Amino acid sequence: MEISVVFPVYNEAKNLKKLHEETREVLKNNFEEWEEIYVEDGSEDNSYRVLEKLSEDDDHVKVIKFRRNFGQSAALMAGFDHAEGDVVVSMDADLQNDPKDIPKLVDKLKEGYDCVSGWRKNRKDSIGKRFSSWVQTHLSMRTGPDIHDFGCTLKAYRKEAVKDINLYGEGHRYIPAKLYKSGYKITEMEVNHRPRKHGRTKYGTGRLFRGFYDLIFSYFWNQFSVRPLHFLGGIGTVFMSVGFFIGLYRVIMKYAFGVPVLPHLAQLLLAVGLLLFGFLLFMFGILAEMLAKTYYEERKPYVVEEKKGL
Ligand code: UDP
Ligand code: MG
Repeated sequence: MEISVVFPVYNEAKNLKKLHEETREVLKNNFEEWEEIYVEDGSEDNSYRVLEKLSEDDDHVKVIKFRRNFGQSAALMAGFDHAEGDVVVSMDADLQNDPKDIPKLVDKLKEGYDCVSGWRKNRKDSIGKRFSSWVQTHLSMRTGPDIHDFGCTLKAYRKEAVKDINLYGEGHRYIPAKLYKSGYKITEMEVNHRPRKHGRTKYGTGRLFRGFYDLIFSYFWNQFSVRPLHFLGGIGTVFMSVGFFIGLYRVIMKYAFGVPVLPHLAQLLLAVGLLLFGFLLFMFGILAEMLAKTYYEERKPYVVEEKKGL
């Protein structure tokens, strides 16, 4: 398969027909083999019905229906898991991204990149949304590649890169940072951006804070997920050492100089407290290590109810 295009869909019933028409036109004129994968993320409107119809009329259309709303990250992840293309493109399903950009992104990818990320230079979104995106991008840049727009869904990936992405929570905002950490080559390209005509945005102002927590977590995850014990164990060791030396000091004072311990009860308690606290941190580190090893290897972040054409 030459190319797969993945769409996360949540309450986009009125956009889907036009989206499919625009996408089909572009793919037909530029590629030999393609598939469109729509991931229906538990919509309350009749998005799934519309998609079912599209997949009946066009063999290139494949649909994955979630049991409930699992979020944009999980939807993208399901699309990536099922994609068979050597190149995989992800796009919003609300017509804000423009399918006409697909061939340009793919050409750029073929120059030797693993991911070409869309840059909505002329963004058609509210001021508040643009501001929160700006803050997040500037924070994210510390942990990732030097590109302008992390949050644009329109991206093209080589198969190897896309199969290596593991998304959960709100992780779709940090894909470039994740890929960069793994050593993939990433670049960006200006893309068209259009105002939303039908339906409404799923992200209010809360996105800034949600994104912020994710960013802190993703920083720790990138730094320590492989070895959480190195982080917690490190701090634990510091506390244990301080406790140990205070205790040692009291013992030496008692047996070498005959200074009784009891009048220095506070120091004794501090020593024991620090030793215990340090030990507990160490144990937490070991637990975190065990969790990191098993958790996301064992489970997918979504549950599929039904598939069409796959
Ligand atoms: N989306 C989704 N699940 C969700 C929220 C959003 O699949 O829980 C999809 C949505 O249908 C759209 C894309 O993710 O195709 C981006 O959502 P939206 O347009 O609301 O985000 P914005 O463009 O406002 O950042
Ligand atoms: Mg949108």
